[in-house]
Amino acid sequence: MQILACPVCKGELSLTIEEESEKEEVVSGSLYCSKCQHAYPIANGIPNLLPPDMNQETQGQ
Ligand SMILES: [Zn+2]
Repeated sequence: MQILACPVCKGELSLTIEEESEKEEVVSGSLYCSKCQHAYPIANGIPNLLPPDMNQETQGQ
């Protein structure tokens, strides 16, 4: 899996793997940006790279 850049600061994200497939693809885990101190969740192999502001709007509902 390629390491994606942070959508906010374009910085490097550190990958934390919770679950991995037989093909060594990340199924679930998170991508953490140390600059923004925000973790982007990975679910079903798809990173959720919504900026923190959008995530907070979702949580507020
Ligand atoms: Zn960032």
